[in-house]
Amino acid sequence: MNRTTVGSLIEGGARVTRSCQWCKDFGEVDLQRIERERGADFSMLDHLPLCTNGDCKGMICFQAHRGMRAQWLMTPEGQARFQAHSDWLFQANIIERRRQAQKQRRAAFSTGGTKAASAD
Ligand SMILES: [Zn+2]
Repeated sequence: MNRTTVGSLIEGGARVTRSCQWCKDFGEVDLQRIERERGADFSMLDHLPLCTNGDCKGMICFQAHRGMRAQWLMTPEGQARFQAHSDWLFQANIIERRRQAQKQRRAAFSTGGTKAASAD
């Protein structure tokens, strides 16, 4: 599995894309830039950084493309981490939505309560 370092990906002519599990932000990865910043031996395998898109808390995973073949740059261990983060994110989002709804209900009750009653 040493074909997943930045250097060997470049050497093998692979294209790498990144995608966020949450906001679905998708794009081409600049391997040359990663090589410059982290060195040719930097492994892309199980490299799962957090999304930097706005306040997105998603995890980003990478996929290598060689010709028609695509390969997720994850071991089963990385996949488990990815899945765990995905589950956490899902729960966190439900909690966040509940809080927002509760806040809105409280705000409506304290200010617009009489308006809502006269609507019907
Ligand atoms: Zn994202």
